[in-house]
Amino acid sequence: MFRDETRKIHIGDRVIGGGNPILIQSMTNTKTEDVEATVAQIDRLYKAGCEIVRVTVPTPEAAKALSGIKKRSAVPIVADIHFDYKMAIAAIESGADKIRINPGNIGGANNLREVVAAAKERMIPIRVGVNSGSLEKDIVEKYGGVTAQGIVESALDKVHMIEDCNYSEIVVSIKSSDVMMCVRAHEAIAPVCPYPLHVGITESGTVKSGSIRSAVGLGIILDKGIGDTIRVSLTGDPVEEVVTAKLILKSLGLRSGGVDVISCPTCGRTNIDIIGLAGEVERMVAGYDLDIKVAVMGCVVNGPGEAKEADIGIAGGKQEGLLIKKGKIIKKVPEDELLAVLKEELDNWGR
Ligand code: SF4
Repeated sequence: MFRDETRKIHIGDRVIGGGNPILIQSMTNTKTEDVEATVAQIDRLYKAGCEIVRVTVPTPEAAKALSGIKKRSAVPIVADIHFDYKMAIAAIESGADKIRINPGNIGGANNLREVVAAAKERMIPIRVGVNSGSLEKDIVEKYGGVTAQGIVESALDKVHMIEDCNYSEIVVSIKSSDVMMCVRAHEAIAPVCPYPLHVGITESGTVKSGSIRSAVGLGIILDKGIGDTIRVSLTGDPVEEVVTAKLILKSLGLRSGGVDVISCPTCGRTNIDIIGLAGEVERMVAGYDLDIKVAVMGCVVNGPGEAKEADIGIAGGKQEGLLIKKGKIIKKVPEDELLAVLKEELDNWGR
């Protein structure tokens, strides 16, 4: 179904589906057994704008750690389970707000029934995850290779396995690292799947290539009205996933608010490390809940004029730069203090 029509599903204190806002997910890359490190990373993700966090649960120690992590997390926690149904049950007992499994590889129907019974007892949703890289052999043979139709058939089979256990608190994710195959699979599953869809391009690459591929794929899928939660999968700091996801939603007009950073393309007039500075500003503003535009400009000659659409900005010069507001120069600032001055302005914005 399209996002206005999907079933409403509760994940902790969040609700997805049925026209609710599209939520941003990410996944920790710490050892889940290390509660302190995992909580610290979840906190960073939350501050960057992440709304649901998935953590891997590969060991009994990780399942046990989940309860401590959950108590200190500002966002719902999804337990990621592979193969071992006992880990799924342990994660549920530790307070996971949702579990992600592939019902086809959890050790058979009886094990799946036990997992679903545990989820049902606490009314936590199950995300059915299917990845093009792990399609069943018979489906690959039936469609003559890995195809969008094959991914959809495999996913719907898994959904029916959960439904056969009389449970319908389901979220579905179908992923492929092939961008257009992923798009076609979502186009095919949306009309026949009543459950919310978690959308992402899997194994999409490094921060740069993965962000581009995710923006293209998610852009097409989301613009068709498909998708209730998203994840941008990147080989990098998971905070980058959240920053990119927010930009994708904002670019599509699916989310407003938050700081927009505009920066000049640089030219021969640039006298400072504007590339590094723009990156630092982008990371810094991710923590602010302000609906404003910030400019990072390369020179004091044209920068203020070119940045007049921005609410506030900085322009770099020789050893000093400018603080600008709506294109007007406010004051000169030593170059190495530009970032700190901008931060101070944001800290006091609207006061
Ligand atoms: Fe070049 Fe200055 Fe314009 Fe940046 S703001 S592109 S450095 S003229």
